[in-house]
Amino acid sequence: LVVLSNVNKHFGALHVLQDIDLSIARGEVVVVIGPSGSGKSTLCRTINRLETIDSGTITVDGKELPSEGRELARLRADVGMVFQSFNLFAHKTVLQNVMLGQLKVRKTDSAAALEKAKSLLDRVGVGSQADKYPAQLSGGQQQRVAIARALAMDPKVMLFDEPTSALDPEMINEVLEVMQQLAREGMTMVVVTHEMGFARSAANRVVFMADGKIVEEAAPEQFFSNPRSDRAKDFLSKIL
Ligand code: ATP
Ligand code: MG
Repeated sequence: LVVLSNVNKHFGALHVLQDIDLSIARGEVVVVIGPSGSGKSTLCRTINRLETIDSGTITVDGKELPSEGRELARLRADVGMVFQSFNLFAHKTVLQNVMLGQLKVRKTDSAAALEKAKSLLDRVGVGSQADKYPAQLSGGQQQRVAIARALAMDPKVMLFDEPTSALDPEMINEVLEVMQQLAREGMTMVVVTHEMGFARSAANRVVFMADGKIVEEAAPEQFFSNPRSDRAKDFLSKIL
């Protein structure tokens, strides 16, 4: 469904993505881990063109993303993204946040957008918060709204970049549970996370990055019990 082929990107002299080849099948959950600065966020951001690439190709459902224009907005909507910081519109209510993209990008009529927003908010467990503003919600609630907002666009794939890193510990699970549920329902997902419990239970595949390269890819049970590369062994010894 998502295919990166020989992707390279530089930030000045820094070669932040080096010959990245990665294919993500429909319904697959890929967890990306690796040390700070290894290029995990950049990888996510290139998939929906928040970052340009220097060479290589990225296709989503067979289509290459254009670099700008209306076509980009529509194709980008196929790629839902949830960030570490919740990125909700502060001056819009929770309900408006979840309706906005549907109205503007998908051109859904407002009754249908409202219906869908309500049902998604219920699904992530924040239906009763619909008329509040983001600042009136806990971090875990805001992140669940951000997930609902992304889902409202009927994305083909969801990217999560450390969605629980900014959360207090007691709120992490409520967000991970929503993600687990999505995974069970067959959503295609790319998840950058340090939550190894999630990786073990939800991932079909773990991708380990270091220094802008994919160093190792394996099923989670294999990766965690028997990492092949020294970089991965070293990384796991520090976090497990
Ligand atoms: P972390 O675990 O800390 O989130 P990461 O694996 O997500 O790290 P990236 O954010 O992708 O790493 O960054 C990879 C490298 O690219 C880092 O060295 C970072 O400093 C650099 N970098 C990221 N964004 C930019 C930018 N806009 N301009 C210049 N350098 C950048
Ligand atoms: Mg990052």
